[in-house]
Amino acid sequence: MPPGPYRCPCCEQEDTLVAERPPPGSDGVCIHCYWQDDLVAFRHPDEVHGNCESLNGWRRQFGKAPLPPA
Ligand SMILES: [Zn+2]
Repeated sequence: MPPGPYRCPCCEQEDTLVAERPPPGSDGVCIHCYWQDDLVAFRHPDEVHGNCESLNGWRRQFGKAPLPPA
């Protein structure tokens, strides 16, 4: 399977997450919302980890519903 781009786990745009492997945990960056895919942030979407905002906080900027903790 060729590497990405993949659907962004944050803004949910198709083919915007540039990564070598599928999210979550790919460390890829979305060219649309600039979210860096982060497995810890994905599992704890209300906490701030590698990005400057929590996943759910950043999703809110793009009108997306919050994700439950994994
Ligand atoms: Zn995105």
